[in-house]
Amino acid sequence: MDCPACNGPMIVVEHAGIEVDYSPDCKGVWFDTGELELLLESMELDDSGLSMDEILALDEAKTDEKARRCPICNSKMLKVMIGSAPGVMIDACPNEHGLWFDGGEVGQVIRQLIDSQPSSTDKQGKVLSFLGEVFKAGD
Ligand SMILES: [Zn+2]
Ligand SMILES: [Zn+2]
Repeated sequence: MDCPACNGPMIVVEHAGIEVDYSPDCKGVWFDTGELELLLESMELDDSGLSMDEILALDEAKTDEKARRCPICNSKMLKVMIGSAPGVMIDACPNEHGLWFDGGEVGQVIRQLIDSQPSSTDKQGKVLSFLGEVFKAGD
């Protein structure tokens, strides 16, 4: 699979049974539908509002950023804002193949979700360190 942002080759990265496609060149991450939810569930972050259905129900963000194409079906992806201020703009396949995050954005969204929880757990720390190592999520 080629990266929808830089067209470079993507590598598959696995954590706790969840596979994501990662672009070493631009540090972007592709989640097949359902994989982001599994990752969030593994961190005990429920009700994140980030299921594919919920994301596709959001209004399309107004932006000059170039549309990207789904690496699976080649359709133009929708740009939607998720998370709390500052929101993160991600790309979603209108045919529900998955979600694209630019470099560092996955870590940003997950940190926002953790900050909105009353207490953090070991599982969240483990996934965050995985994200830090693999995705180089910045602070
Ligand atoms: Zn890339
Ligand atoms: Zn698609």
